[in-house]
Amino acid sequence: MTNQPHDILRSIFGYEHFRDPQAEVIDTLMAGQDALVLMPTGGGKSLCFQIPAIARPGTGIVVSPLIALMQDQVAALKQAGVRAAFLNSSLDMQQAREVERQLLQGELDLLYVAPERLMMARMLDLLSNAKIALFAIDEAHCVSQWGHDFRPEYIQLSVLHERFPEIPRIALTATADEPTRREIITRLGLNEARVFISSFDRPNIRYRIAQNPGGAREQLLHFIREEHANDAGIVYCLSRRRVDEVAAWLAEKGLTALPYHAGLDSRERAANQTRFLNEEGVIMVATIAFGMGIDKPNVRFVAHMNLPKSVEAYYQETGRAGRDGLPSDAWMIYGLQDVITLRQMLETSDSDEAHKRVERHKLDAMLGLCELTTCRRQALLAYFGETAHEPCGNCDTCLSPPETWDASVPAQKALSCVHRTGQRFGVNYLIDVLLGKTDERIQRFGHDAITTFGIGRDLTTPEWRGIYRQLIARGLLAVDIEGHGALRLTDACRPVLRGEESLWLRRELKPARIKKTKTARAAAGPFTTERDQSLWEALRALRRKLASSQGVPPYVVFHDATLAEMVALRPQSLGEFAHISGVGERKLAAYGEAFLEVVQAHAV
Ligand code: ADP
Ligand code: ZN
Repeated sequence: MTNQPHDILRSIFGYEHFRDPQAEVIDTLMAGQDALVLMPTGGGKSLCFQIPAIARPGTGIVVSPLIALMQDQVAALKQAGVRAAFLNSSLDMQQAREVERQLLQGELDLLYVAPERLMMARMLDLLSNAKIALFAIDEAHCVSQWGHDFRPEYIQLSVLHERFPEIPRIALTATADEPTRREIITRLGLNEARVFISSFDRPNIRYRIAQNPGGAREQLLHFIREEHANDAGIVYCLSRRRVDEVAAWLAEKGLTALPYHAGLDSRERAANQTRFLNEEGVIMVATIAFGMGIDKPNVRFVAHMNLPKSVEAYYQETGRAGRDGLPSDAWMIYGLQDVITLRQMLETSDSDEAHKRVERHKLDAMLGLCELTTCRRQALLAYFGETAHEPCGNCDTCLSPPETWDASVPAQKALSCVHRTGQRFGVNYLIDVLLGKTDERIQRFGHDAITTFGIGRDLTTPEWRGIYRQLIARGLLAVDIEGHGALRLTDACRPVLRGEESLWLRRELKPARIKKTKTARAAAGPFTTERDQSLWEALRALRRKLASSQGVPPYVVFHDATLAEMVALRPQSLGEFAHISGVGERKLAAYGEAFLEVVQAHAV
């Protein structure tokens, strides 16, 4: 074997071509220079440091913040025949000493190390005595003190540059924003580094945001059964209680759904996570505590039962779907109550006014995304500074454009009802007044005698809720800071209230049922013919068996995309098998025969 990056790509990883900009990043490191790589999840960051670490003399040292992620990557590398190991707190003393020995003897291509360990004097001395190919700093946004993944040990990583100035470094992250990028460059001393910025688009993810007219759980179940039967997915809920409830309910309906949140004891949490990784078709119902460092490539859907606090959070969470590049769904359902709850949480929080302003701005952007009537992907990417994209054709608003209607008059009624009742009441009360209901409370306040009493009978309760939701989302109404859910007018509502500005709103439809475009989505199954489907199942069963006998997750043996290609091409010989994307030399030798046998058994 040669040490040419492209040969390594083929023979070890089984891929034919580099993706943009992998080849250039690798050349940069091969030439001994530093690189900063910003690429979305699933873009292919790992090969950018793995290949030069293999090609260059010495060991590539990879700093990675999460033990689970390290173990996964090392397992996958070993499967491909790469000499890889990790050093972290999961090893006992003797195991750690053995890894250190391998490092000093030059027996490792890649060594993954936790940052706190790397910074210990003993470890740095060890590195001084070893031959080092490069330093890779994965999840480099962890140096950012403003980010939510901040790791204090990451700041000390600048020491690497001072102690080993001649060794090339590469920092990688999927966090796109400009301030984080600047922080990475300064804190890690990467001023000389070549910067590679990819588009953050995830074309294989279909974004869908539906209104919740009630019955969110049923809609979730319907979505999973119709479109993701037997697929792995993540369902995010806001509270622990809701997580338990939704998980139990889905399980009752016959799905494999497990809960994950900080309230479970750590053993149960770890056990559920392991099942999610190692079994197929497991649905993890979780709070947002779950997901960071989950490297499972075939998560086919991410569902949000609540609105995330910001577009950043939404993008990060939905980004856990489809790392393998196959079609995946980001599905969300939200309603009036979400909007009110999030606004309330924000207004009643302890943060100072400057902080609240930022948060308010972020929430507004998220709500804007929900209420959008144009392409969601375009808006998402524009939010991250990519403004040159065309409508995508793969989001709900592109696939079934929402109708809008002139809601100026109903909006005036809704706003004026807030005004007439003294800006002290919540949505349910306001709607009762609009609909002219006479209950004891309305009579006591004398609101059955005001001008807005009963002027809303032309619309239904759900329609009024939709209008109030959109008015709050657009900032024409504000939620009280006392936290009782009372609405008050904002300055922004005046032009509409006075009839100077018209207001077009989304027409509330039945939750968007997207016509399934089978042809576009057939990449990973379900397959169109029974023959293909049964071969697919058989290949998955074999993969499961091979994986569990080695104690690794199935995708470490082969990715779904590789199995799907076996179904499509039905290789007849080892030579043909070798051509399948994701089959390198080691995997060909280890698994080729077994998979060929299954293909042949299904030939008839
Ligand atoms: P990231 O770390 O950027 O989230 P990964 O490095 O995990 O992404 O890669 C995502 C997926 O793309 C993996 O399944 C990987 O095997 C695959 N991949 C990466 N580079 C290539 C390539 N050049 N050709 C085919 N598949 C690739
Ligand atoms: Zn679109």
